[in-house]
Amino acid sequence: MLVLDGKLVSGSVKESLKAETTALLEKGYRAPHLAAILVGTNGASETYVASKVKNCEDIGFVSSLVRLDENVDEATLLSTIAQLNADPGVDGILVQLPLPKQINEHKVIEAIDPRKDVDGFHPSSAGKLMQGLPSFIPATPYGIMLMLEFFNLPTKGKHAVVIGRSNIVGRPMSILLSSNIPGGNCTVTVCHSHTPNLKEICLQADILVAALGRPEFVKADMVKPGAVVIDVGITRVDDPTAKKGFRIKGDVAYAEVAPLSSAITPVPGGVGLMTIAGLLKNTLQAYKTNNGIV
Ligand code: NAP
Repeated sequence: MLVLDGKLVSGSVKESLKAETTALLEKGYRAPHLAAILVGTNGASETYVASKVKNCEDIGFVSSLVRLDENVDEATLLSTIAQLNADPGVDGILVQLPLPKQINEHKVIEAIDPRKDVDGFHPSSAGKLMQGLPSFIPATPYGIMLMLEFFNLPTKGKHAVVIGRSNIVGRPMSILLSSNIPGGNCTVTVCHSHTPNLKEICLQADILVAALGRPEFVKADMVKPGAVVIDVGITRVDDPTAKKGFRIKGDVAYAEVAPLSSAITPVPGGVGLMTIAGLLKNTLQAYKTNNGIV
């Protein structure tokens, strides 16, 4: 069984991005700039944003963080996005999700200039992805594709089962795996909370992507021996014995599934790190495209 080590793959992606950034700086270009907006003080969101900012700095990008109060109104958030859209020194904009109830997430995503949509959530990016046109790919599915490519895992003709159909993970993942691209050409089944016989469908998967947000949902009796298992789930589960009072759990019962699989991502240390790699790649792409750098 091969452990699909996100640290190894994201490290390699970051190294090549850092080398490219250094070369651009040496030619006199400014550094790529990612702007993040964080609304409120949700613990998990704080951690994700801090990690994105740190990773930007690691590879020579500039990152800025705009913090808004939990009770901020939608108009203020939209005007903050408008300012970043208009700022030629900002290449990529991300708004950390989830947002508080008073704010319409769709409106916010649509307010981001598609040329700076490095999370790949804008309908314009999603539409392009659907049609196989160049676009920003949502960072998590992008990171998973980079991982499949890094480990040279065969996908052509395989049956991939994706559990989850969200706009940020499950659906774009299913589009990529079924597309006629490297890492694609799978026959894909998408499952969701109304899927009957989920276990039987999962048992047919050569590649199983679990993105449902239910800790340790995928058990050994749902996995075909030799399958490649990609665990996207990240859930904080209370644990008074842990230093922080919680542990991070994936959607796969790793201890029992790993021995059955041919390759598997750990949680933490798997897909989460690749998500950041995908985001950084999108940011450099935005920077180059918007500044006419080939
Ligand atoms: P989401 O928007 O809540 O979507 C969950 C999907 O799973 C939905 O399509 C839902 O079906 C389906 N689902 C829920 N319970 C199910 C069940 N019992 N059987 C089958 N399908 C079920 O979540 P998300 O944003 O896609 O995130 C999924 C997980 O990935 C979460 O744990 C999240 O924290 C994690 N995540 C990790 C990363 C990373 O970097 N590793 C990035 C993003 C998200 P319906 O559509 O029918 O409701």
